[in-house]
Amino acid sequence: MSQVEVSKMKQRPSLVPLGALISQELRNDKVEKPTIRYGQAALAKKGEDYFLINPDCQRVQGDPSTSFSAFAIFDGHNGNSAAIFTKENLLNNVLSAIPQGVGREEWLQVLPRALVAGFVKTDIEFQQKGETSGTTVTFVVIDGWTVTVASVGDSRCILDTQAGVVSLLTVDHRLEENVEERERVTASGGEVGRLNVYGGSEVGPLRCWPGGLCLSRSIGDTDVGEFIVPIPHVKQVKLSNAGGRLIIASDGIWDALPSDIAAQSCRGLPAELAAKLVVKEALRSRGLKDDTTCLVVDIIPYDYPILPLTPRRKQNPLSSLIFGKRFQNPMNKGGNKLSTVGVVQELFEEGSAVLAERLGKDIPLNSNGGLLRCAVCQVDVPSTEGLSMSSGPFFSPASKPCEGPFLCTICRKKKDAMEGKSHLQ
Ligand SMILES: [Zn+2]
Repeated sequence: MSQVEVSKMKQRPSLVPLGALISQELRNDKVEKPTIRYGQAALAKKGEDYFLINPDCQRVQGDPSTSFSAFAIFDGHNGNSAAIFTKENLLNNVLSAIPQGVGREEWLQVLPRALVAGFVKTDIEFQQKGETSGTTVTFVVIDGWTVTVASVGDSRCILDTQAGVVSLLTVDHRLEENVEERERVTASGGEVGRLNVYGGSEVGPLRCWPGGLCLSRSIGDTDVGEFIVPIPHVKQVKLSNAGGRLIIASDGIWDALPSDIAAQSCRGLPAELAAKLVVKEALRSRGLKDDTTCLVVDIIPYDYPILPLTPRRKQNPLSSLIFGKRFQNPMNKGGNKLSTVGVVQELFEEGSAVLAERLGKDIPLNSNGGLLRCAVCQVDVPSTEGLSMSSGPFFSPASKPCEGPFLCTICRKKKDAMEGKSHLQ
């Protein structure tokens, strides 16, 4: 009996012709694999903005079916070395924190944790260079319809589903606007206040002293203080197969344009043109006050040349009903809500600055002949040298390796310093 006949027998009693099944599968494949189109535009004032465009990464090297893309913006300050270093190392550091050989679902599931490890590892490595600059990072990984965004600082990523709903996928880590972050910085030993000028009057936004940084999280900024942490806010969403547009940009854009205006200004245009237009709009409204960089990434259904415009919600009574319900949902906390039921599915969101909370207790301990792998930098060290994270604030050997996650001495020291405990040692 031929393969085809066997398949036909298995399909009874529904009797779907094999050809139909195959074409259905092909269609599903098209649905599962969106096309990515992107454009970039920038205007430099200080030359400290950098970006990363990597549309052809692979989860398994040499296997094109495991492809994903990465896009990022790095807005440097006090020099450009932190931005350049992060651009060159962050992606590899994130990927090295994902176990080898895991399938797609698991890969996406461990990605938020790997992003945290990769950000912290990159920060530690940059610190070791002894340079003093810092950078914001907004780092976006797109795998199929799943979008994962990790960010520190105030470069933003917004999502436009083209249905009249624009959502923010990042959180601004600005001391001025983030009470929680102000409290954390103060509790960890930093001082938060405005700049004092002659006569004692205070000017400008809230800053962290010493150093005078307006941000509460970044990579670098070794000279400011360890309470300026590199632990990213991470959000993971799954788009419907109608697709969506991401606009990733430095604060040069967002200080000039509200998210919805930026999205509206370029709707219906191809990504390349859209990025140019957003920069132009920002310039028109505010002038060139800062480095201004914009990436536009369209996640498009297969075979569409540009992102299709879906009807606005007020034209559809059913969807406004669903929106109404969603807005009243008490479980939907915070102002950063995704109200696009049926369009965007929220998979994960976590923004805690506490490393232990971000790495999780269930992290598998990678034990290899008496060696344990550090959950942050992925270095194998003898179990007697590192420390289990669940042991106390003072040094004690990780005698119980089941109490993961495990950190090497350097990463453990970094963890304590970020929590304001370094002076105890
Ligand atoms: Zn380590």
